[in-house]
Amino acid sequence: LPELPEVETVARQLAPLVCGRRIAAARILDAKLLPFDAAVLKGCTVDGVRRHGKQVLLELGRRGKPAHCLLVHLRMTGRLIWNDEPGEPAVRHLRAEFILNGGRLLFYDARRFGTLTLTGPAAPEPDGLDPTTQAFTAAALKNLLKTARQPLKLWLLRQDRLAGLGNIYASEILFEAALHPSRLGCSLSPEEAARLHHATREVLKRAIKHCGTTFSDFQDARGVKGGYQRYLMVYGRAGEPCKQCAAPIERSVQGQRATFYCPRCQVLESESAALKRP
Ligand SMILES: [Zn+2]
Repeated sequence: LPELPEVETVARQLAPLVCGRRIAAARILDAKLLPFDAAVLKGCTVDGVRRHGKQVLLELGRRGKPAHCLLVHLRMTGRLIWNDEPGEPAVRHLRAEFILNGGRLLFYDARRFGTLTLTGPAAPEPDGLDPTTQAFTAAALKNLLKTARQPLKLWLLRQDRLAGLGNIYASEILFEAALHPSRLGCSLSPEEAARLHHATREVLKRAIKHCGTTFSDFQDARGVKGGYQRYLMVYGRAGEPCKQCAAPIERSVQGQRATFYCPRCQVLESESAALKRP
């Protein structure tokens, strides 16, 4: 599933390709993507493209004023592809087509879990705190963790707490922070919470720099796969040696999702408990 870095990559690459262009026609080819009337998009200009949680948000204007936001949730296999080549595009798995002056923005989705949502001029409020924004401070994270009575790995996946994280980066962030995925969020010392904050920032920054992670169906707006795969420390590496200490990486299942961690670098016992031990 595309997570924050992959969606950020799509939005950043799409923005210079489509911003300033006018929508001549929009066609929804998959009835599952309704209900919205694609005809209302005709004549709108694309004023901006940005990430909104795990969705790509297109800001659409009319006569210089914000008119709509089009939110694209890629989910499992959705892809937004810019095509400025002459001739008809490939139609296999094509679910929606936006004809702009100078090219087409195509939404492909093999498994059809992706969604398109059209709103008014204002974007919906994000559910949780976006960990790439200025508002995501160590203090803000500590505050959120106070009520976190869940294992850290599951808590990091909650979109109503931090928006945009999924299975890959939740595992990678916990390794970076040297925190066991089963630790309860509310059990973190102030120092551990600060480490989790720093790790979240660092892992996301690196992943965005490398355009996300290659996995089966993610492709960015140019149809190129992400390059973060070789930087993964634990995700998908069960049984392989930890890149830091050589202990075999372990895999466990939390909330029906696989979690990967190093049993030596990420000890379960909290450090304060370890210090109190005689
Ligand atoms: Zn290790």
